Amino acid sequence: MFRKVLIANRGEIAVRIIRTCKELGIKTVAIYSTADRDSLHVYLADEAICIGGPLPQESYLNIPAIISAAEVTGADAIHPGYGFLSENPGFAEICTACGMKFIGPSPEAMVLMGDKAKAREVAVKAGVPVVPGSGILRNVQEALKACEEIGYPVLVKAAHGGGGRGMRLIESPDEAETLIATAMAEAEAAFGNGEVYVEKYIENPRHIEIQLIADGHGNVVTFGERECSLQRRHQKVVEEAPSPFVDETLREKLSEAAKKLAEYIGYEGAGTVEFLVDKDRNFYFIEMNTRIQVEHPVTELVTGKDLIRYQIEVAAGEKLDLNQPTLKGHAIEFRITCEDFEKDFRPTPGKIEKLLLPGGFGVRVDTHIYEGYSVPQYYDSLLAKLIVWGETREEAIRRGKRALSEFIIEGNLKTTIPFHIKLLEHENFIRGELDTKILETKILPQI
Ligand code: ADP
Repeated sequence: MFRKVLIANRGEIAVRIIRTCKELGIKTVAIYSTADRDSLHVYLADEAICIGGPLPQESYLNIPAIISAAEVTGADAIHPGYGFLSENPGFAEICTACGMKFIGPSPEAMVLMGDKAKAREVAVKAGVPVVPGSGILRNVQEALKACEEIGYPVLVKAAHGGGGRGMRLIESPDEAETLIATAMAEAEAAFGNGEVYVEKYIENPRHIEIQLIADGHGNVVTFGERECSLQRRHQKVVEEAPSPFVDETLREKLSEAAKKLAEYIGYEGAGTVEFLVDKDRNFYFIEMNTRIQVEHPVTELVTGKDLIRYQIEVAAGEKLDLNQPTLKGHAIEFRITCEDFEKDFRPTPGKIEKLLLPGGFGVRVDTHIYEGYSVPQYYDSLLAKLIVWGETREEAIRRGKRALSEFIIEGNLKTTIPFHIKLLEHENFIRGELDTKILETKILPQI
C-alpha cells in the first residue's frame, strides 16, 4: 500500500480523498493555490504545499509545480480527483516517469476514452450500442454531409469536450453550417482542439450511468446505476441511485455493457460508463469518464462501499475482493452551489458568515466550507454536496426536505438550497418522471 498520497485537487473532493487515506493509514499531502490558503483540505492533510497563484494554470494545472511538491514531500502516489488534471494522459505519464503512481487508469485508456469519437468506435467494437453518429469531422463540408446522412435533429459535439460544453443542437439544414462552425470554434477555444463529431439527437432521453472499478488482475466490478437526468445546460444538478426508471433487467443489461467496454480496453481503476436511455428502454453509450465523479456518493450510500478506498487499493495493485454489491434503499445527491437560481444561476462567491450543516440518520455532507470561509472566485461554484439515504425513494425525498431545511449558509452569497427545496415539491420529481430536458423546459419555469 502507498505510504503517502499527494492530492492534486482542491475543494470537497480533496477533503473526501484525504478522509479515506487517513482511514487506510496513508499520509496525505495537500497542494493549494494562494487563493486557497484557508481551504479545509489544507488543514486536514498531514502536509500542505503552496504550488502557485490563483489561476488554475498557475497551480492546479501546473504539472512541474505539482510533481516538485510530490518529490519534496516523498509522496509515492498522486490522486487527481475530478476535473483539473484527472483526465490528462500526459500528466499520468509524467507521474509514472517520476516514480509516482497515478491513481487512475493507464494513459492509453485515457487517450482512448478522452477522444469521444474514438470512444464510440471502440464501444461498437466491444459490442456496446452507441447513438447513430459520425467519426471525427475535419471540416464544415464533411460535417454537413454527416448531418444529412444521420438525419436532423443532430447534436454536434466537441471530440475532446466535457462538462456539457462544446455542444450544439442542429434542428434543420439551414442552420447547420453556422452552428457547425460555431461548435468548432468553441471547441478550439475551450479545449485547445477544434475536432467535432455529430450524433443523432435523442429526444428527451434519460442520462443513466454505470459505476465500475477494475483491478489489474482482470476483475471488473459494477456498482449499479445512477440517474443523472436532472441537468441544466447539459450539466448535472441532482443525482440519485438507483434510477426510478431502471428495473432489474435493464440494470443487468447496462451493467453488462459497461463491463464489456471496460474489459475490451483492459481498463484499470474507477470509471463511469454513461448512457442515454429512451422511453422504450433502448440505451446508447455516450462516453466513459476515466476518473471518480462528483456524484459517486449516491452509489456509496446504496452499496455501503467506499469507492475511493477501492480506487486506491486497485491502484496499489490489490485484487478486488468483492462481487457486484446488492443495492439497498435509495440515495439522492443535491449539488449546493453559490449561485442565484432566481437570476439564471449567476455565480455569487462571497464570505460565509454563518454555517449550520444538517445531520442525523441517513444524511451525509461532503464539503470544504466552514464558518468564516471565503469562497474564491477562481474555481467552480460547488459549496457542498448533500447526500441523503432512505429505505425507499419517498423516504429519501422526505429526508432530503428535512436536511435542506436545516442547512444554513449565510453571508454575502446566495446558494441553491432554496432551489432544491422547491424541486422536491415538484410533481414530476416526486413521480420520478425525469429526462435531460425537463428541468429547463418544465420544472424551472414552474418553481
Ligand atoms: P460532456 O462530456 O460534455 O458531459 P456528454 O456526451 O456526456 O458530454 O453529454 C452530456 C449531456 O448532453 C447528456 O447527459 C445529455 O443530456 C446530452 N446529450 C449528449 N448526447 C446527446 C444525444 N445524442 N442526444 C440527446 N442528448 C444528448
